[in-house]
Amino acid sequence: MTTITLWEPEERPAYILHYGDVEVVGPTLAADEVICDMCLSDLPLRPVPVVDGDALCLECLTKVVPDWQSQVTPLLELIWRTQISEFQASE
Ligand SMILES: [Zn+2]
Repeated sequence: MTTITLWEPEERPAYILHYGDVEVVGPTLAADEVICDMCLSDLPLRPVPVVDGDALCLECLTKVVPDWQSQVTPLLELIWRTQISEFQASE
């Protein structure tokens, strides 16, 4: 079974690259700047569902983990669906 982990994003660098001994730190992303790693859409879900290191929106999560609802509580699903409708209403 594919396991979902939950991530509460914080301010962090967009990327950290290493060229030999030289480290390049990308621009800082705010805690609310999260996109789906599969479809690159804005990701309003908190906590963020993460599968194999990829942050996923609900549509992509459904493709990757069809039984995701069996892994989260009904309350969390309700919270996510509320966040999505509030996000869509704000666009
Ligand atoms: Zn997605």
